[in-house]
Amino acid sequence: MTLNRIALLASAAFILAAAPAVGAPPAGPQALEKNFDALINPAEQMQWLQQMSSEPNHVGSPHDKANAEFQLAMFKQFGWDAHIEQFDVLYPTPISTTLELIAPEHITLGGQEPPVPADPSTTPENIARALPPYVAYQGDGDVTAPVVYVNYGMPDDYDALAQRGIDVRGKIVLARYGAGWRGLKPKLAQEHGAVGCLIYSDPANDGYAGADPYPRGGGRPPNGIQRGSVQDMTKYPGDPLTPGIGATANAKRLTRETATTILKIPTLPISYADATKIMAALQGPVVTDGERGALGMAYHWGGTDAVKVHLAVKSDWSLKPVYDVIATLRGSTYPDQWIVRGNHHDGWVMGAADPLTGQVAEMNEAQALGALYRQGWRPKRTIVYASWDGEEPGLLGSTEWAETHADELQRKAVLYINTDNNGRGYLFAEGNGELQGLVTGAAASVTDPQTGVPVLERARAHILADHYTSADSVTKAQLDAANGDEMPLGPLGSGSDYSSFAQHLGIPALNLGFGGEDFSGGSYHSLYDTYYHVMHFDDPGLQYGGALSKLVGRVVMRAADADRVPAHYSDFADEVARYVGEVQKLDQDQRDHDRSLADLRREGDFKLTSAPYDPTVAPADKGITPLIDMLALQNASDHLTRAAGAADAVLADEQSLAPATQARINAALANIDELLLDPEGLPGRPWYKNLISAPGTLTGYGAKTLPGIREGIEQRRFDDARTYVQRTAAVIEAYADRLDQVAAMGGRTVP
Ligand SMILES: [Zn+2]
Repeated sequence: MTLNRIALLASAAFILAAAPAVGAPPAGPQALEKNFDALINPAEQMQWLQQMSSEPNHVGSPHDKANAEFQLAMFKQFGWDAHIEQFDVLYPTPISTTLELIAPEHITLGGQEPPVPADPSTTPENIARALPPYVAYQGDGDVTAPVVYVNYGMPDDYDALAQRGIDVRGKIVLARYGAGWRGLKPKLAQEHGAVGCLIYSDPANDGYAGADPYPRGGGRPPNGIQRGSVQDMTKYPGDPLTPGIGATANAKRLTRETATTILKIPTLPISYADATKIMAALQGPVVTDGERGALGMAYHWGGTDAVKVHLAVKSDWSLKPVYDVIATLRGSTYPDQWIVRGNHHDGWVMGAADPLTGQVAEMNEAQALGALYRQGWRPKRTIVYASWDGEEPGLLGSTEWAETHADELQRKAVLYINTDNNGRGYLFAEGNGELQGLVTGAAASVTDPQTGVPVLERARAHILADHYTSADSVTKAQLDAANGDEMPLGPLGSGSDYSSFAQHLGIPALNLGFGGEDFSGGSYHSLYDTYYHVMHFDDPGLQYGGALSKLVGRVVMRAADADRVPAHYSDFADEVARYVGEVQKLDQDQRDHDRSLADLRREGDFKLTSAPYDPTVAPADKGITPLIDMLALQNASDHLTRAAGAADAVLADEQSLAPATQARINAALANIDELLLDPEGLPGRPWYKNLISAPGTLTGYGAKTLPGIREGIEQRRFDDARTYVQRTAAVIEAYADRLDQVAAMGGRTVP
């Protein structure tokens, strides 16, 4: 698409959005939402996006601060009470990065990504302002060592290496991006004794296997590099020096040496142009099938002295400021109940798609809500809009804010709504199960820009069509929801700013966005995540930016204006019952699998299937998974199902109750999710207190539900699994007890 076409789209969108006149104060929710929609303007979002992504805006950069100040001014102009809150966090930036092939020949590798002439953001000035490609919170060092290709560098990959007798001790591992969170790759490498780690973007995952390389298409070009964080945020996110407390000026800080979320080995991200030069030299058995990527060459595991790489990273480990912008519209009836909504504003380079597509949608909502306020609308609850800084290095701004205001948030915040990068395609939603109806209702009344049907209908069609094509790509929960005309909510893992609210403070949270038909994967965390890329390949005309504003605006207004944040507790109970079934099945399946392995090992079957050109040995003996007694958990889940049914029945007929009773019910439900927290948190990571879902210690972004139990079984910590059956059952019982009380207030007894 040419720039003329973008300009045309922009002006057409402006006319469409500006046409309906905005009149007197709206009469009811529908009129209010109609007025709100008329104030949503993708053309204005495009202007903000262009301005905010015009220069690199990583933490500590001048443009990052300028963006915070711009947003502060805009919130004030929109009529919000706004301020900037600053925290001082440990944030390493590279002083020098070195990468060179030493043997079999000398080749200098690494360095900054080159400009793309078609892309006006990739100017020499901007490239000079950008950070060189690196990963934050790796461990500085200077090493020269042989290279081993480790596929994705996940636990299964190390098992496969062990079967080949390939050891990474004393070596530099070369892992490709994908299959698990970036930070786990160097973490697992260092745990297996590697001295360095390189992570590259294979064209199989975000390059020419799926899209033409940029700028012909949106796919990752040969020199594109994915920056990112490798902070071990599965222990705790935020400033590594201040776990559990805000990184305010006088906070008591750990030393860098004692912070457990900083890795120990030097690590760099590289392009596939560079990876190709290393891979071409590697020797050893050929990597086949799913363990290889899409480079046009044979892949070898390597590990011999024939190939040596020199890798060195040195960083500036000083404290840097992060600037959160916090804006408030005060509630009229329940000013001490807050609906909090956030998106981050810092990027890795220009950050156009990630995060600014979501950020400009948020600003447009704030503008529209401010205009409605001026027309006389008064939300019943207080609405807090946040623009977080420092999300990319480790959810820094949101975590420090949440930790600083933990007590107040636990008393007042009744919902947190998150967005991040947004693109063309289908609605996705993650969050607490009881909010499924709230999201479904909003999604039913927002129109998909491409097809003209409600975004709910399109999401449903997507799930059902995917299920037909490949049944494994869709979960049972998604299928059940789609068949019931509901928007499925996936569990919350990590990777964006909802984490502190949901997993540390027990505040119900949602993470919303569109995607699936965008190519932002190809520019993700690179120099090429620019306005030009977004306009051509991710969300031309920001049509889905408009849809996101309308969707989130509805969720915010409905949550702020209803008698209570709409919730349907049976949906949560169904979700818990499903998780309980899953962990029981996991226990049994793993036990069966262990028995099979023991049989195969005993009979020597692995020896008989070892090929001469790729000799392998049997997988290591793992012992037999015991059957874990989960009766307490089943009982708790059953209690929850019955209590939720009774509470939902009371809430459905709430208007018949006396106002004083309704107020008591309100109070009982306002912080019910905090009952899902365990003060001791999860094994080895006490910061994560929510026992229903958490980021997986071996998946990172991906959620683990009933994580104390599930990971206890998966990681063969069976005593932990037994302990967390009891602890998880206890929090579910407490939640169910609270619903019993609500049912009783409404005159019902739980069967
Ligand atoms: Zn982001």
